[in-house]
Amino acid sequence: MLTNQQTRINVANPIQAIRGMNDILPPDSFIWQFVEDTMRNVLRSYAYQEIRLPVIEKTELFKRSIGEATDIVEKEMYTFLDRNNDSLTLRPEGTAGVVRAGIEHGLFYNQIQRLWYMGPYYRHERPQKGRYRQFYQCGAEAFGLEGPDIDAELILLSAKIFEKLGIKSFMTLTLNSLGSVQSRAKYRDILVKYLTDHQSELDEDSQRRLTSNPLRILDSKNPAMSDLIANAPKLMDYLDAESATHFAKLQEILTKAGLSYTLNPCLVRGLDYYTKTVFEWVTNELGAQGTVCAGGRYDGLVEQLGGKPTPALGFAIGMERTILLLQQSQQQLPIAPLDIYFINDSDAAFQRALDLADQLRDHMPKMSILVNCGSSSIKSQFKKADKSGAEFALILGEQELQSNSIGVKSLREKAEQTTIQQDDLVKYFLNHLKK
Ligand code: ATP
Ligand code: MG
Repeated sequence: MLTNQQTRINVANPIQAIRGMNDILPPDSFIWQFVEDTMRNVLRSYAYQEIRLPVIEKTELFKRSIGEATDIVEKEMYTFLDRNNDSLTLRPEGTAGVVRAGIEHGLFYNQIQRLWYMGPYYRHERPQKGRYRQFYQCGAEAFGLEGPDIDAELILLSAKIFEKLGIKSFMTLTLNSLGSVQSRAKYRDILVKYLTDHQSELDEDSQRRLTSNPLRILDSKNPAMSDLIANAPKLMDYLDAESATHFAKLQEILTKAGLSYTLNPCLVRGLDYYTKTVFEWVTNELGAQGTVCAGGRYDGLVEQLGGKPTPALGFAIGMERTILLLQQSQQQLPIAPLDIYFINDSDAAFQRALDLADQLRDHMPKMSILVNCGSSSIKSQFKKADKSGAEFALILGEQELQSNSIGVKSLREKAEQTTIQQDDLVKYFLNHLKK
């Protein structure tokens, strides 16, 4: 029980959400549902299956998979000790958990898996437009296939999602290949030599990465370093033969499938586990937070986390950036529809309205019906009905109750109110609303 004094203090200082963690309110939540439904439908149509995982994992999982020298592990994870003194972390990304679960449940033994997930992720970053501390991703991962065919299919699947959302034309697909672990190591030496020769031009972050994670310097968003990066030796020139063939075949399939892309030799991705193909969907419409979807191959990760060697690849779409892009795209966005506002003006009329509304809902499950609660005059309920945006008002007053009839009024078209028999109500709407 709160004392009076505590109540007063709480009123003066209402508690606010944590910085960078957003509430998603109506009507925006309806747009979220639309985006999520669209993604689920595309994923299902490509025969991907959902995997649902805990939002907290052992800290060790992310250190071992993402890599100690990455931004995420170095400075972005929400890590804490629980009551047993175990170090736990709010998941900063999805792939590590999927691989952990796949190994734990034997999903990868001689099996091909196509999986997807959707949910919240956590990184302690500086909040700004398109960058939050709790954000949502929709990801897809495929295990057990090593050829470029699955790379192409996965990329085409991501393209289909953006096409269905109507935002593909605002985005560019960019591709690169990081090669094998060996060819990457060779390139790393060459890059470090180049960067060391230009050490005075490196910013502070890059100085630090020069020894820990030099490839990441290529991903720097600092404009002062763009020339240095543009002139750096290209990973592509040091690719091993197998990776080069894989990458060429991928491009061939995408081109034949009619999907355009650009090659970006500086695309390296922030996580350590990528090999061969990496890709991003980027846009110019969202300022600095222009990467909407990112992914690639990570053939070594399953083994690295204790499983049998298993080729794998995946992508993650940032939901907030997708929705920001959708909102900026000028297209008509879906709004939560209200079909019927049900006006009733007595206890008996309310009771009957509950029953009739239920009959309608049973026959037309997509229909949305608001039954007025909180007694008020028919006149004021009509005002609420007008404001609600509903398509129709149903009116059940004393007179209608007596004669088993009901008033129907279109709130969109300038039509007179009509009266029909209650028994004909379902039939009437089956004819008048296509739901
Ligand atoms: P960035 O370079 O923008 O920091 P990233 O390389 O850290 O992105 P990934 O870990 O590859 O991003 O995550 C995939 C996608 O998830 C990103 O392309 C982006 O759309 C989204 N994302 C990542 N971090 C955030 C965040 N803090 N807030 C909102 N969306 C995010
Ligand atoms: Mg990041």
